[in-house]
Amino acid sequence: VTPIHRSFDAQVARRPEQALFHLPDGTAISYGAFEHTVRRVAATLLADGVERGDRVAAQVPKSPEALALYLATLRVGGVYLPLNTAYTGAEMDYFLDDAAPRVLVCAPDRAAEHAERTAGRAGEPGLVVETLDASGGGSLLAGEETSDVSAEVAEDEPAAILYTSGTTGRSKGAVLTHGNLASNCAALLEAWRFTAEDRLIHALPIFHIHGLFVAANMTLVAGAAMDWLPGFDAEAILERLPSATVLMGVPTFYTRLLADERLTAAACASMRLFVSGSAPLLAADHEAFAERTGHAILERYGMTETGMNTTNPYDGARRPGTVGVPFPGVEIRVTDRESGEVLPDGEVGLVEVRGPNVFAGYWRMPEKTAAEFRENGFFITGDLGRIDEQGSLTIVGRDKDMVISGGYNVYPKEIEELVDAQSDVAESAVIGVPHPDFGETVVAVVVPAAGGSPSEGSVVGALEGRLARFKQPRAVRVVEALPRNVMGKVQKAELRTRFAELFT
Ligand code: ATP
Ligand code: MG
Repeated sequence: VTPIHRSFDAQVARRPEQALFHLPDGTAISYGAFEHTVRRVAATLLADGVERGDRVAAQVPKSPEALALYLATLRVGGVYLPLNTAYTGAEMDYFLDDAAPRVLVCAPDRAAEHAERTAGRAGEPGLVVETLDASGGGSLLAGEETSDVSAEVAEDEPAAILYTSGTTGRSKGAVLTHGNLASNCAALLEAWRFTAEDRLIHALPIFHIHGLFVAANMTLVAGAAMDWLPGFDAEAILERLPSATVLMGVPTFYTRLLADERLTAAACASMRLFVSGSAPLLAADHEAFAERTGHAILERYGMTETGMNTTNPYDGARRPGTVGVPFPGVEIRVTDRESGEVLPDGEVGLVEVRGPNVFAGYWRMPEKTAAEFRENGFFITGDLGRIDEQGSLTIVGRDKDMVISGGYNVYPKEIEELVDAQSDVAESAVIGVPHPDFGETVVAVVVPAAGGSPSEGSVVGALEGRLARFKQPRAVRVVEALPRNVMGKVQKAELRTRFAELFT
């Protein structure tokens, strides 16, 4: 497979005049013009001493130049390490100590706090701090030099380290190779029929795989164009829908678009595909979106360590609640939590993945890496799921979120689906909290639907006779909103802490 940056080079040669970015101010940046920015950034990185395998960390606002930094890092043979712009000083300490980058690119107002890190530790070179602001200014692009280096890299060489979202504990650095990125991108292009004719609305952050390795890589490799938005903004998305073909979003994008009555079938006339992932899409949103626009949202499943694993079909029924079949070249199996044996279809167990998309390992965590891989190369995702007769996967939650009550396994999703279906409930999160008799017991945290006022009695009453006693919530708490991170993932650990003492 051709590394991402080499595929981009080929598109630059093929279509230098074509627009790559359509910016909010109405201007566009062509492949050729963007290539020039990439060359300037590459020259700065080389001048900073970046060598093959060196990490280049980026904590920068989203801009075309920020994406140029990614491509320039790959071109000089470096390892790209994007960091969430929300991370504070103490969080940055952890990532910078852990990853020991050669260069850190940050917003100008944060350069001072990193200046004292430049000294370096024994056996490691010091850190060079460069700046890049939201409008593309800063030291990263201050030089006039350009470099046309475009490293020939091996498939198994690291291209990036991405830290996981930290939903279940401390973020881990996942080392992804050029082969991982390129093979997954090729599989995505094929499965979703993505071509140079496409115009993607890009409103995701670019420090996670969804925005970077799904949305941006696909565009760069296909020679397509993107409407490059700084973040989610219903207004801006609705304005661009009539000239776009594809939208990739997290589930909250769709919830929020549905809240706007300007979302209509007519507004989506040029669109051919809406993709959702990073967290489960509410079945109610899937249905409401189809009713309103005529488009069935295509849900897919992936993670930092593996890129994209499964997808609902491009042709054929996209079923809410399922995440579909493996991408070409990817294998999925479900195994027993205790014995590790492969389970028959229909049974819930650990979701495991094998394929060219699966990462090389956790950065500087050999034991953790060894513990999550089977001898035959399958990676244990930490998600629980089941495969149906049609080979389609359903994620029922995370292994760490499973509740064990009185010795019985309770899968939150089964309860959440029944609670979400109640008319006065918008959405819910089911968690396990410590209980003196049962070890753990089930608690439902519920967000009311507009005009609804669910209570403990109404929620539990509606489950009567539909769920075994041990699965029924022992307490219901009504909240205004579920705690979520930028990718729309519900922070169940936070809920468990908040409600830890309900029964103790
Ligand atoms: P950490 O590993 O640090 O706890 P994280 O798992 O949230 O954080 P990511 O790699 O960003 O970090 O997220 C991957 C996870 O997101 C998957 O393991 C899965 O639990 C969830 N996920 C992704 N897509 C879907 C989907 N379509 N439906 C349900 N869950 C999904
Ligand atoms: Mg994870």
